[in-house]
Amino acid sequence: MTDIESLPSFTISSIREGLTSKAFTATELAKAALAFAEKENAATNAYLTFSPERALKAAAKLDAQIAKGEYAGAMAGVPVAIKDVIITKDLRTTCGSKILAQYIPPYDATAVFRLEAEGAVIIGKTNCDEFAMGSSNENSAFGPVHNPKALDRVPGGSSGGSAAAVSQGTAVAALGSDTGGSIRQPASFCGVVGVTPTYGRVSRYGLVAFASSLDHIGPLARNVEDAATVLQTIAGRDDFDSTSAFAPVDDYRALMKHPVNGLKLGLAKEYFEGLGAETGDVVRAAIKQLQSLGCELREISLPHTKYALSCYYIIATAEASSNLARYDGVRYTTRNDGETLSEMYRNTRGCGFGAEVKRRIMLGTYVLSAGYYEAYYRKAQQVRALITRDFSNAFEEVDAIVAPVSPIPAFKIGEKIDDPLAMYLSDVYTLTGDLSGVPCMSVPCGESDGLPIGLQIFTKHFDEATMFRIAYNFEQSRAN
Ligand code: GLN
Repeated sequence: MTDIESLPSFTISSIREGLTSKAFTATELAKAALAFAEKENAATNAYLTFSPERALKAAAKLDAQIAKGEYAGAMAGVPVAIKDVIITKDLRTTCGSKILAQYIPPYDATAVFRLEAEGAVIIGKTNCDEFAMGSSNENSAFGPVHNPKALDRVPGGSSGGSAAAVSQGTAVAALGSDTGGSIRQPASFCGVVGVTPTYGRVSRYGLVAFASSLDHIGPLARNVEDAATVLQTIAGRDDFDSTSAFAPVDDYRALMKHPVNGLKLGLAKEYFEGLGAETGDVVRAAIKQLQSLGCELREISLPHTKYALSCYYIIATAEASSNLARYDGVRYTTRNDGETLSEMYRNTRGCGFGAEVKRRIMLGTYVLSAGYYEAYYRKAQQVRALITRDFSNAFEEVDAIVAPVSPIPAFKIGEKIDDPLAMYLSDVYTLTGDLSGVPCMSVPCGESDGLPIGLQIFTKHFDEATMFRIAYNFEQSRAN
């Protein structure tokens, strides 16, 4: 497994082994990963920008450290891809938008900085829905991403490029962002592990804001252990993000290896309504498997789930309308001039933003306007508190909640793009995680007609350790 030819099946630990046994150098691995990623990109369009200089520089530094026998870091040599809404110093960051097509950030996001400090090799920036608004990656200004498991299908979104990169094996791990499901849903569609940590667990410094109270950075990886390693590397308090938490970061990799027998798992009936048969059968079989590992199943209810979609699209669009006001042709963006200031704004924003982004800015401006604020925005915040309370009540009875990630597997490119409401529905099971801020993840649990399906696991705030433990034990039991 440490032959460089096996790159598509490498994990963080097989890379460590390969570097230690000198089966390959970090430079050889970085070159191989870049060449492979560039070749595959013709079929999937997963990457928007490659970063050969940065990758080779990092790899050369690692090789020198390894030659001297120094510790090279928990992520040493690991080819990593970064969603293009997470900024990277001197490396183009577009947010999948024409308005930032030429934007070169002056600093690194904290998560990126921490990965590189532990030896990760960043090979490129991945395609995504414009400003992370979407569920299929079709809202990118740079063309859709094709799901590596079925090229005529979407990879999910908005972190579709990151999920595709890990799924095709061009990156061993990737960073994504999740505001309403954008890590877990593409992870599920592409057959990889995707983690949305507790809100505040990972610094948002350098994550381009979509809806600040809902935005999370999290890992996508080929297996649970790698996802845990990446989260461990990027988690923890950061003074640059006042919402990042002081809570200590657990040793996920050690804790996840504890057995799961005796853990109580909640099955919320609201998550099995409207579930397609293909997905339902696979998810139910996965839950049975957890039962056979000694987990106890309990029927529970999260009664306010039915309001999540409306609540999310009010809060997320309200925050987006405010966050996106900064792209005004004066600060970050390419400017399209006009006779007057407002004409310049109109020309810049009118040409720079795509249809979905404009739709959301209009909706968000509306729900925040005088007279509607109380009726919509305030009300949605109250409902959000009830959704969060549903989770705290449930976690008095159970250790974790298991559910599907998405009602259906990956759909065909073009199938839903003209029907925004149908598209929004693909997030019904993931939105509550972001609204309540609890940690949640998708772990591959089977296939239907060759299309991957994920199992979703939710735990209490800051209890990522139990979430990884369930996912790890489940993954191991599938492998055996
Ligand atoms: N699909 C949802 C949306 O379009 C979630 C996006 C996200 O999590 N970034 O808003």
